[in-house]
Amino acid sequence: MQDQAIHLLLIEDNPLHSRLIQRLLEGEQQLRCEVEVVDRLAAGLERLGRGGIDLVLLDLVLPDSQELDTLFQVHEAVPEVPVVILTSLDDVTLAARAVEAGAYDYLVKTHLNSVSLGRAIRYTLARVRARSGEWEAPMFRLAQQQFLKAAQIMALDDNIRQRLLFPQRTQVVSFPFFRDDRAQVETVFGYRVQHVLSMGPTKGGIRYHEEVDLGEVAALAMWMTWKCALMQLPFGGAKGGVRVDPTTLSDRELQRLTRRFTVEIIDMIGPDKDIPAPDMGTNERVMAWMMDTYSQQVGYTVPTVVTGKPVVLGGSLGRKEATGRGLVYLVQAAAEHIGLDLSKSTAVVQGFGNVGSYSARFLAETGAKIIGISDVSTGLYNPNGLALDALLEYVAEHRVLKGYPDADEVTNAELLELDCDVLALAALQNQVTVENADRLKCKLLAEGANGPTTLEADDILDERGVFVLPDVIGNAGGVTVSYFEWVQGTQNLTWTLEEINARLKSILLDAFQRTLRRAQAEQLDMRTAALIEGVSRVTEAKLLRGLFP
Ligand code: NAD
Repeated sequence: MQDQAIHLLLIEDNPLHSRLIQRLLEGEQQLRCEVEVVDRLAAGLERLGRGGIDLVLLDLVLPDSQELDTLFQVHEAVPEVPVVILTSLDDVTLAARAVEAGAYDYLVKTHLNSVSLGRAIRYTLARVRARSGEWEAPMFRLAQQQFLKAAQIMALDDNIRQRLLFPQRTQVVSFPFFRDDRAQVETVFGYRVQHVLSMGPTKGGIRYHEEVDLGEVAALAMWMTWKCALMQLPFGGAKGGVRVDPTTLSDRELQRLTRRFTVEIIDMIGPDKDIPAPDMGTNERVMAWMMDTYSQQVGYTVPTVVTGKPVVLGGSLGRKEATGRGLVYLVQAAAEHIGLDLSKSTAVVQGFGNVGSYSARFLAETGAKIIGISDVSTGLYNPNGLALDALLEYVAEHRVLKGYPDADEVTNAELLELDCDVLALAALQNQVTVENADRLKCKLLAEGANGPTTLEADDILDERGVFVLPDVIGNAGGVTVSYFEWVQGTQNLTWTLEEINARLKSILLDAFQRTLRRAQAEQLDMRTAALIEGVSRVTEAKLLRGLFP
């Protein structure tokens, strides 16, 4: 049992329920709690104002406050104190909304026993401690909120929910690399996160970006788990990253940084353990250096330790363009579903890196007119259509789109609101939010980037009838062809590009149809339906494997 007592404030107007909870807490062996009880929100706020409370157990329906407003008032008074909702069976939907709005958990009063109550309190306090550090990233919060929403709808077992809410393994490293003058040494932070180890080796990209942190990498690892499960690939989710701006590094600096980072995380990765791939800010050259460094350490060549490497080193045909190609296969299926003729449509693409440039190219091949495109430097708009070959040539020479002559310049924010049929997001997270969701004019939102849409924006898009192709399906082409690369590598054989594209299309469309069927049958949005598909598979596998020891 812990040394210090936990100070709980129970705000509950039903005397039977508050007595039950106090009795259960007295019976819990591993917690020492001091419980104060009030039966009105005003009294609770007054008590919280005096400080010293570690956790609030809150009934949302009180004589002096109703529903979510009760939670908002508590949050406003003490934003740092975690709140666990107490609910009756009739009000579970309201309680789940409270969790989406920031409460830590909810407990159904009539289902409680002292073990489940104690566990929920301990776990909430553990999450508060974890949050206060690196985990506090908006992206991780988004990934957890999306998961909790799916978990509530599918009535996921409490314990499985807790086990999936945080990654199983994380490694944080801080390491130096020499600048080119060999005088300056730079120290940067790096991360590798493995979310679920039950499904097979873990798999996930490596991101180089100046804002990478543990929470962001954990969110990306969690999405990889759902994505691999949805595609029925034999992997759990992982992700890695280094907090650095790669555009400020020379090629030699990039290589030194990559080699040192690989050595720092070498115990985590391996062809049967955890297999990195490219993500934002990294590419096939970075994968070649990772593979070479790993091979140097073990003493022989291990091509299968990474995917997304150059074809000559055992990379797969079609991997480089797979995410964009996959997105467009799915856009075609979604367009058919909503009755949109792509050959007469207009499209806007945010991002002109790997995913954005290939998405634009394959969209143009369907006959869609690309009228807007952007990168970190600017956005470009031409209602008559942009010439992709000319854009690619321009970027090859100038690195960025800024200055391209045959288009009007727009900001990235304006780009998202252009009048178009298809909007493909292929840059960053957190692009469609409550601020701009009602100004988007597209009919189909195709997510190539990870986490580009917030939960609140999802609701607005759903109400407005915009068809969303969520990231866990939309960008799954990348990991699917990475899986093909790993399979070819482990078997020492190669498939043709035709075989690869045909297999890719069949896997993606199968996942799309399963998700669409679930969304229609259960009246869910596509994202929640996709997450439920993925989470169900992981849950089934976890339950079949059982718990060690
Ligand atoms: P990339 O580094 O090749 O390209 C990123 C693009 O985004 C660049 O054009 C960059 O200029 C642009 N960009 C950066 N900051 C921007 C900003 N503030 N506003 C507008 N544009 C900005 O990266 P990528 O591999 O194409 O990845 C893009 C997204 O796709 C990421 O969310 C990544 O996680 C996701 N993704 C990539 C793959 C893959 O196979 N590469 C697979 C799945 C998901």
